[in-house]
Amino acid sequence: MVNRQCVFCGRLIDLDRYALFRLPPDYRHVPDDVYRTYLEIRCINRRTDFPDVCGIGSADAARMVYENGKPVLTTRTGRSLDTLICPSCHNEIFRDTSQGSVNTAVFFGRPESGKTSLVAALANECITAGFSHDDRYRYIFCDKTYSSEFIQNVTAGSAGGTKPDDLRDPLVVFRMTSAAEGSIVVCDVMHDVSDNDTEDDYSIALTLPFAAGAEHFVYCIPTDALADTLISLDMGADMRVRLDLDAMTHSFGGNDSPPELDIAVTKLDLAEKLGGAASDILTVRENERALINYIYTAFPCVKEYAGSFSGIRVFPVSSVSPVTDGEGVTLTARLYSAIFG
Ligand SMILES: [Zn+2]
Repeated sequence: MVNRQCVFCGRLIDLDRYALFRLPPDYRHVPDDVYRTYLEIRCINRRTDFPDVCGIGSADAARMVYENGKPVLTTRTGRSLDTLICPSCHNEIFRDTSQGSVNTAVFFGRPESGKTSLVAALANECITAGFSHDDRYRYIFCDKTYSSEFIQNVTAGSAGGTKPDDLRDPLVVFRMTSAAEGSIVVCDVMHDVSDNDTEDDYSIALTLPFAAGAEHFVYCIPTDALADTLISLDMGADMRVRLDLDAMTHSFGGNDSPPELDIAVTKLDLAEKLGGAASDILTVRENERALINYIYTAFPCVKEYAGSFSGIRVFPVSSVSPVTDGEGVTLTARLYSAIFG
């Protein structure tokens, strides 16, 4: 049995039973309605006339073989198809996504909380710095959903104060160990969640199917919001965070192994300028216990919901300037390692 995981919807696929392949564009001109629906749900503007798919059991399929571990389907007319498609969402199935090698992190937060900038900054670390502080791995950015130029532009835009559009497809990074240690590939997947994805239970089920199997939920709280609420103790702010946490716990449902909750205190670069409570946050940024206490004081609901997750951690981050910790590692690089190991 060969399993692969779809990084778009999270489905685990037994290829011996459910392998589906994309037919070549010239083969037939049948629009792929499943893929078109996926694009509509995620608000992705892309050409939607992808040709139909062909799989085990369909009239066009002749036989499936494995060539160098890669499944290939031969059609009755002798065409070889090697672009694997997910049976649920009809997106491409990537290589090296067997069960256990895919790590999924889902990023949540209020509007303006800096989650899209953070996701882009984490991916950008893999592209530009290659995470050179971590010599156990080579980080390889997968550009099948976004190009590295696009991610670099988003990161540069964030630094210049531009609010990026939500990323509607997952960001995928492959990590390889050195050949000396026996080459192992893992696949890190980051999902940027939009506000309308969590509007109600229906949107959660439709747009966040991957959340049920995610190991990490990253919740972004900006430094300025945390500092303001620490002073005002505004109940309305606590209520809005409660709604987010409620949506988050709904999205992983009755999962036996709930995800870890990683709170990213974003926009730390603003702290010095803001002063007051924000300066206190900057001062204690290396002290996780103190940061958690600040969060529990400002947002008591976080403490209430902590038990629904497998654990809770706090990471101060800045997506726009390379704030480093005591050892010269950028805070985004440190967060990436903390999430994905
Ligand atoms: Zn899928």
